[in-house]
Amino acid sequence: MEQINLNTNAKNTWCIGCGNFAILNAIRIVLKELIAEGTPAENFVLVSGIGCHAKIVDYININSFYSLHGRVVPVATAIKVANPSLNVICFSGDGDSYGEGLEHLLFAAKRNVDITMIIHNNRVYGLTTGQFTPTSPSGFKGRSTPYGNPEHPFNPLELMLASGASFVARGFSHGIDLLKKLFKEAILHKGFSIIDVLQVCVTFYNMYKYYDERVYEMDNHNELDFNQALVKAKEWDYNTDTKIPLGIFYRTQKPTFEANFHRLNKDVDRINGVKEILKNLNL
Ligand code: SF4
Repeated sequence: MEQINLNTNAKNTWCIGCGNFAILNAIRIVLKELIAEGTPAENFVLVSGIGCHAKIVDYININSFYSLHGRVVPVATAIKVANPSLNVICFSGDGDSYGEGLEHLLFAAKRNVDITMIIHNNRVYGLTTGQFTPTSPSGFKGRSTPYGNPEHPFNPLELMLASGASFVARGFSHGIDLLKKLFKEAILHKGFSIIDVLQVCVTFYNMYKYYDERVYEMDNHNELDFNQALVKAKEWDYNTDTKIPLGIFYRTQKPTFEANFHRLNKDVDRINGVKEILKNLNL
């Protein structure tokens, strides 16, 4: 079968060695696989926010929407509700969705909107040259915290589980095979899926050595067990020097937001239609 070419002519401006390349390569391979397996290319829509991650949509020849800072989720939700047959894949950063757009992210998880969130979590604002984000460790020294970050980071996996996300995973930009697996499973999952990718920013927060020494892929983990997922998610709190589990933490099946939305609105249309008939009959 002929492979579709997803490359574009846009010049790639990421720094050499940036973890974004692993995400780009993995998603290109997964999209090609899904297209070869029968999903038309025009059924995919990519949405990005603002930050270094956002340029990814310029580098993939698929319909896309470059949104505002922190507004990936509302744009993606609107696309999905307007046309539920589309596969909506979102790219966002830790500053973008764990900071600016956090409330949107929590509610998309709560609502179980059938979109896939790929978070480029480099734990620093790269595009604006190195400020701390919600997942930077305490004591992190950056442009806005020269004496150290006075805050404790939050754990996005714990937040997503508590908010009702139906698919929660973590990957690492030094592991393209795992990224491919996680991306494909997340896209095929019916419901809200999120993959927190430890994406290394080589220029402002180079964590390759740190992660290489600590990450491991989970085995014997029951993805269907919420409590086990929570225990695994808490194993590393984005601050302490413990081992870092990777893989799918949790998945479950439940009705999606757009399915409920259209079902309820159909009922409203039907009720309004009956009222209209009764009115016309003067009843
Ligand atoms: Fe990647 Fe960091 Fe360079 Fe941005 S600043 S392209 S995140 S290495």
